[in-house]
Amino acid sequence: ESKRGRRRDKSQQATVEQVLDPRTRMILYRLLSKGTLLEINGAISTGKEANVYHATAKDGTDKAIKIYKTSILIFKDRDRYVTGEFRMHKAQIPCPEPILLKNNVLLMSFIGEDGVAAPLLKDATFPDSKARELYLDIILMVRRLYHECKLIHGDLSEFNMLYFKGKAYIIDVSQSVEHEHPHAMEFLRKDLANITDFFRRKNVPTMTVKELFEFVTDSSITTENIDAYLEQAMKISSERSAEEISEQEKIDEEVFKRSFIPRTLDEVVDIERDFRRTQTFEGEQVLYHTVTGLKPDLSGPSQVPLLLEQVTGQNE
Ligand code: ADP
Ligand code: MG
Repeated sequence: ESKRGRRRDKSQQATVEQVLDPRTRMILYRLLSKGTLLEINGAISTGKEANVYHATAKDGTDKAIKIYKTSILIFKDRDRYVTGEFRMHKAQIPCPEPILLKNNVLLMSFIGEDGVAAPLLKDATFPDSKARELYLDIILMVRRLYHECKLIHGDLSEFNMLYFKGKAYIIDVSQSVEHEHPHAMEFLRKDLANITDFFRRKNVPTMTVKELFEFVTDSSITTENIDAYLEQAMKISSERSAEEISEQEKIDEEVFKRSFIPRTLDEVVDIERDFRRTQTFEGEQVLYHTVTGLKPDLSGPSQVPLLLEQVTGQNE
């Protein structure tokens, strides 16, 4: 290959060269030749499924370009999921702004400064006092992601959030699922367990995973009562000892594993029977009822979150 040839095709830089199939190279070549990008630089990250490169746009700004290694055929299906990135942006969740998606190539805004990518949340340093604020920000994001984007991230943890200028940014949304996905509720619970574990290690008196699951899914939480809800939930959390929490979580986890979680009203298979059961067995509740937006005894739609019910008595 002549020197001239190499210089002509900027997409064939050494860092990028080996891993890319001809079609991907063509996409990158077009981005460069049409002037969208000035250059594609070194890899920020190389993973099993994707590489992320730093790129420079024609106006000199930093960009990130994620190249999925998945073959084109499988990717057809994936295309749908990558649109999660676009949905998140609409709901104003802090995340990279998607600029262009072409097959397996996602061009997005760069989270970082002067070409240096922001650290992962797991590597970021912030005071314990900041941790509580981040915890609350993140659980609010997950709630918006759930209700406004109808998405569950599915791989959310300190490994898929960046810390930049005091804020957490959610990244890597390509595997996110909609509520109808057969494992949606398990994925949600795992995401919430990851967040909880991380912030507990940072000494935040977090809710239990079950409480957090209810906070995220409960549709009777509104802009009017959300502050009161969080205040109450965090008050309960701070009054619990670590031992009490871990005991409770063990029980909750066992129950979760064995319970059927209806995701929509359609899935409450026999509402009459379930309703009778709540009447027959003293105090028995259909588990994780918040997902369906029903009262715990299934007697009708829930207007007030359970946590606030005792305070206001409005659900009577
Ligand atoms: P993977 O599928 O390999 O986990 P991610 O989307 O999590 O890919 O990205 C891998 C890494 O690339 C991230 O941990 C982060 O360090 C970096 N990264 C991804 N997107 C951006 C971005 N928009 N700005 C800056 N860095 C990014
Ligand atoms: Mg990742």
